[in-house]
Amino acid sequence: MKRAFEEHLVQKFPYSCPYCNHTISYDQFDLKVGENEIKCPSCKKIYIKVVAPSFTEGDHRSRR
Ligand SMILES: [Zn+2]
Repeated sequence: MKRAFEEHLVQKFPYSCPYCNHTISYDQFDLKVGENEIKCPSCKKIYIKVVAPSFTEGDHRSRR
């Protein structure tokens, strides 16, 4: 249940770094509701990805 919850969250994110626009797979991060530190594997900069609880109510289940 919790795992599906997290996968659902991930689908809502743009898959790119805000600094260099490098495509990032959030599957490798343990995203949780609140603030998540994401380190870009390309430019090595760290940014905060905020996950809002309301994002769990999406209707996209497909994975890439
Ligand atoms: Zn980057």
